[in-house]
Amino acid sequence: MRIVMKFGGTSVKDGENILHCANLVKKFSEDNEIVVAVSAMAGVTDFLIKAAKKCYSDPSPGFIKVSIAELAKKHFDAINHAVSDDYRSKVILMIERLMDELEKVLLGITYLGELTKRSEDYIVSFGERLCAPIFSATLLSIGVDSVALTGGDAGIITNSNFGRAKPVKDVYTIIDSRLDPLLTIKKTIPVITGFIGSTEDGSITTLGRGGSDLTATLIAASLNADEVWLWKEVDGVLTTDPKIVPEAKLIPEISYLEAMELSHFGAKILHPRALEPVMVRKIPVRIKNTFNPDAPGTVIREETKSVKNIVKALSLIEKVGVVNIIGAGFDFAEIMSDVFKRLAEAGVNVIMVSQSSSELSLSIVVDESDINRALRTLKKLQNGVIRVTKMEDIAVISAVGAGMAGTPGVAGRIFSALGKNGVNIVMISQSVSEANVSFVVSKGQGGTALKVLHDEFKLFK
Ligand code: ADP
Ligand code: ASP
Ligand code: MG
Repeated sequence: MRIVMKFGGTSVKDGENILHCANLVKKFSEDNEIVVAVSAMAGVTDFLIKAAKKCYSDPSPGFIKVSIAELAKKHFDAINHAVSDDYRSKVILMIERLMDELEKVLLGITYLGELTKRSEDYIVSFGERLCAPIFSATLLSIGVDSVALTGGDAGIITNSNFGRAKPVKDVYTIIDSRLDPLLTIKKTIPVITGFIGSTEDGSITTLGRGGSDLTATLIAASLNADEVWLWKEVDGVLTTDPKIVPEAKLIPEISYLEAMELSHFGAKILHPRALEPVMVRKIPVRIKNTFNPDAPGTVIREETKSVKNIVKALSLIEKVGVVNIIGAGFDFAEIMSDVFKRLAEAGVNVIMVSQSSSELSLSIVVDESDINRALRTLKKLQNGVIRVTKMEDIAVISAVGAGMAGTPGVAGRIFSALGKNGVNIVMISQSVSEANVSFVVSKGQGGTALKVLHDEFKLFK
């Protein structure tokens, strides 16, 4: 089989874990052709984002020295643990070069007093760019031929929507032309930086947080892989986030549609766009636990054997806000098209929409990071009749399950269970596929709502 394997940040959090992951690759490469995509070591992306912001808002060269030293130590410690003497000096040199480059960029931000989306992407890309060469050198150290590549080297060419870049249309052919020869002619295992791509003119972009899942599925679709394996720290897709509801149970099989609904509505387990490249090509995606590799995990595929559960899983997004467009006496279609065109042009990610037409009232849930941009953009529509307002400190809960379609009374059960437990609903939306009911509550009630529904639909172990 041809398998694209992605190792998430927790899976590669230190040298011991990188070595463990490399051994997993070695084991499976005996019978399969493998391509690897790696995330940054756990915590590194957040560290880089914070460092970039601090260099901009509270510049201090001393802070840069300390940050660079801390990051360098983390990666050198990993090398000392995972990479053998034969390959160590080469990878150390690469890491030193990258650290020098990063130090210069951070100093640049400090002196210029400017942090653009483009420079932020450049800075966060160091996480994956530092990790991939170490992973690749670890494979070499255990006798597996390998080469490290950046997303750009691997053909992940994107538009220039920095922070949430989209792959260009012919990305699949470009990736195939860069990677296929490495597999078929050179017979080597490419280790590719997840999460990052490049514009056609060579600027580094990122695919959005959690984007290394998307890197893996883009590569799989390009190379016509048989499967994608996403190695994470959980046994698979669970009925909800185990960090909030510890009783959450493993879902052995889930459809593309259900998994997409879950990830779109915030389940951190998967990047929201990760399934797009593979679902048309019907490539199954397995979520596997790095720390429990023999467990079967979850398989995401087109058809699942059972749709018995009405509500299969629940998700919660807390980093969101609502923009409301309120008015009266307008052509609804006209206003809607204007609103969404403006939001698309401003690069705002729309999560959920709800509308009432007696009086014009359109509520749009967007990422918390987009709320002010959305508000600024839509305020331009404001006049004597139309008002644009925002609402913050809210959470979106989503109940997902293909079995909900055609089953009467599901929404009734959801809202009466919430009502009995004193949870107030601010906004509701259900898609025609009926595979999803989503609603907005105050941020403080998000966790309670999740637990109430998890119990109501008996999703626990
Ligand atoms: P990766 O290591 O690939 O980056 P993530 O940290 O992005 O993995 O995703 C795994 C995390 O997703 C888990 O730690 C878990 O807390 C969270 N999560 C949210 N919803 C779910 C769910 N339905 N099933 C499993 N994990 C979930
Ligand atoms: N390192 C990136 C993040 O933390 C991408 C990823 O892990 O998928 O978001
Ligand atoms: Mg992730």
